[in-house]
Amino acid sequence: MEKKDLNWSEIGFAYHVTNMRYVSNYKNGAWDEGGLTADANIVLNECAGILQYCQEVFEGLKAYTTVNGDIVTFRPDLNAERMMDSAKRMEMPPFPKERFLDAVEQVVKANADWVPPYGSGASLYIRPYMFASSPVIGVKPAEEYQFRTFCTPVGPYFKGGAKPLTLCVSDFDRAAPHGTGHIKAGLNYAMSLHAHVEAHKRGFDENMFLDPGTRTYVEETGGANFLFVTKDNEIVTPKSDSILPSITRRSMLHVAEHYLGMKVTQRQVRLDEIGDFAECGLCGTAAVISPVGRVVDHGREICFPSGMDHMGPVIQKLYDTLTGIQLGTVDAPEGWIHKIC
Ligand SMILES: *Cc1c(COP(=O)(O)O)cnc(C)c1O
Repeated sequence: MEKKDLNWSEIGFAYHVTNMRYVSNYKNGAWDEGGLTADANIVLNECAGILQYCQEVFEGLKAYTTVNGDIVTFRPDLNAERMMDSAKRMEMPPFPKERFLDAVEQVVKANADWVPPYGSGASLYIRPYMFASSPVIGVKPAEEYQFRTFCTPVGPYFKGGAKPLTLCVSDFDRAAPHGTGHIKAGLNYAMSLHAHVEAHKRGFDENMFLDPGTRTYVEETGGANFLFVTKDNEIVTPKSDSILPSITRRSMLHVAEHYLGMKVTQRQVRLDEIGDFAECGLCGTAAVISPVGRVVDHGREICFPSGMDHMGPVIQKLYDTLTGIQLGTVDAPEGWIHKIC
């Protein structure tokens, strides 16, 4: 198989139209058999539920070329399960786990020429999603849905090394108490776009959102979970019902505990204690872990001892170990690496 002739280190995080994508439709109470299509466009009725009341959920995962030349995905079973949880909360029919895994496999195989080679730092980003496709005007769940999975190659998240980020404590909330902060739905992103644009205008890289009930505890950014390192070399991650359960963060905790022998704790983290931590990072599929150097809380600056030039030593070790597991240079826990071809 001939790889696409792309400058893998320069492609950035952008959409490229690849060869094939997977589609399945839900109608009369059942999913059809589904399959691949070359058509990247969707034709919808003007009154489709997704367009009117935003009934949609999605996932994001990557395929990598390992050091042995295999194409693999990382813990796709957890994406499948999370998408079922998201769908249930949105009154949508869950797409079965085995079918989700099959769809991802078919899409990656059909686009193998788009999977960046080992050593390029790039990977194939896979986007499964589903939405209400039938007309809805009175407020209720739709009767018909479409599940799709497409993929696009993405470049290395950190070109020229990981520069620590500067965050601002947001005056907006990304989720409501007892709302939908814990599911992966486009609506959570729609409502945080304004905060995102405002933070960028003021020169910040990301927002730090606080718990929407009391605005006392740290939640997450718009698309990544926090991980802190204490001065005693322990890992702490915020606990809250309105945080998205990041697969990267859950994997990091396992790596910290079982590969690096560190103590890990999940608990509520107060905004007024973060200045006591030694390192701070953001976990998500896109960047694996991005170091945070500074948090600005309305004129008060909290600077982590790891500084603004490079990742702190613990976050670097976590990053190296997890990317090593994904690329086949470090032994993976049972079941984490799913070989496709
Ligand atoms: C997807 C997402 C994350 C990261 O989750 P991963 O499974 O690690 O990719 C974190 N926060 C939000 C809001 C997300 O949508």
